[in-house]
Amino acid sequence: MNTLLATARFGTTVARLAQLPAPGVPEIAFVGRSNAGKSSAINALCQRRRLAFASRTPGRTQALNFFALGREDQPAAAFLVDTPGYGYAAAPLAVRGSWDHLAGRYLGERTVLRAVVLVLDCRRELTELDRHLLGFLGPATPVLILMAKSDKLGFAEREKTRRRIALTLDALKRSNPLTLIPFSANTGLGLLEAREWLVRHVTE
Ligand code: GDP
Repeated sequence: MNTLLATARFGTTVARLAQLPAPGVPEIAFVGRSNAGKSSAINALCQRRRLAFASRTPGRTQALNFFALGREDQPAAAFLVDTPGYGYAAAPLAVRGSWDHLAGRYLGERTVLRAVVLVLDCRRELTELDRHLLGFLGPATPVLILMAKSDKLGFAEREKTRRRIALTLDALKRSNPLTLIPFSANTGLGLLEAREWLVRHVTE
């Protein structure tokens, strides 16, 4: 088991682009619709119970949270960056606008962004908002798609879902390298594969 992810600890919160740390080390961003399972995925990947946590109030956590990786007695070797969950039906347009302004611009403009993890609730279709979000990414940014909560599906259903999501992604005709993994924070399904992908993308 690679231990790099287990070193994750809270680094800094960024509420405005001007507060971003000077770009120096690789960063991997986590994005996903609210309630998709993003916080649970980050915690499982880093073997922590409450590194990332979802705010119960829509729109409350409109900030980027940076988690540092690497030896604790040294400056961060890399960052995992948790972006605010998007797509609460109740979120006013102003909140959507501020997501685009902060997280959207971060995803589109950050030079040290190595890769993006998109967390999907496997029982839902890829939403308009997921597509909107992919639209911010440069054409070469690798994307790992975690089909979260896959423990809720049987094996056959999981494979069917994987094929359906793959077809939907194909239809978007994006050139980004895409990896699709059935994932469960509860059972550990896909955990090793996802960790291996993350470590490869921050260290290569
Ligand atoms: P976030 O809003 O995307 O950060 O989502 P959370 O990680 O807070 O998860 C939303 C809900 O889904 C919570 O009730 C979690 O307990 C549940 N959940 C998250 N991951 C899983 C999973 O792998 N399996 C199951 N069955 N439930 C999960």
